[in-house]
Amino acid sequence: MKKREVHIVGNWKMNQTLVEISQFFIEMSKMKMELKCKAWIAPQAIHISILKEIAFTTGSIQIGAQNCCEHDSGAYTGEISPLGLADIGVEFVIIGHSERRTIYGEQNSLLNKKVLLALSHGLKVIYCVGETLEERESGQTFSIIENQLDLGLKNLPAEQAKNLMIAYEPVWAIGTGKTATAEQAEEVHAFIRSKLTTQAEQTIILYGGSVKPDNIDSLLAKENIDGALVGGASLKAQDFRALCSSASTAMM
Ligand code: PEP
Repeated sequence: MKKREVHIVGNWKMNQTLVEISQFFIEMSKMKMELKCKAWIAPQAIHISILKEIAFTTGSIQIGAQNCCEHDSGAYTGEISPLGLADIGVEFVIIGHSERRTIYGEQNSLLNKKVLLALSHGLKVIYCVGETLEERESGQTFSIIENQLDLGLKNLPAEQAKNLMIAYEPVWAIGTGKTATAEQAEEVHAFIRSKLTTQAEQTIILYGGSVKPDNIDSLLAKENIDGALVGGASLKAQDFRALCSSASTAMM
């Protein structure tokens, strides 16, 4: 089934030097691809402005942030202001990535504040959910996801739902080389869609977890998978391009 819109979102995490960034874009521009899909990159916060400039000149790639604060301004040393992101024209922000949840102890209630504040500034939000291996093996996948959706998206204003995207990222598949099968992913994506109370059909639901050029096609063939959130494979221009090219083929 061909899709109306497919997103490939690169999460560069805490990677890429300036030299690597310029090589990435040189490689990308050599490839002259027909980019029908939405190609987004979230670099480290210190590189957002630089990437915005490069992306502006090379066209078509949109730049976002990997995280933001639950406050707009004030005495929060080291934090990233959602108001500041909107102010410099950032298009999107990832909230609730499993590394933020596990390494930095971010809970659903905190993530809810971040989601609501970012949306209030017109930023698109990619809200991440996903179960650990232990939770999957003990049959808790759906209850964990439901809880993350209920608490993280509490009080979401209906008129802002159009800017919300969900990323299903099973924790056991992130950076491990173990991808969920397309069937496992689709089952959870369909569940997530069934739980959304506004804009359920229109909401973009991305899959993330060891997505690579050789497994993207089977994932995108599924009805409820609207794109991918990609870590490792988004760092290499050739792989990122291959993912975008598969995504473009999956579109009408
Ligand atoms: C991620 O960090 O969101 C991710 C999915 O990483 P990887 O593609 O490397 O598993």
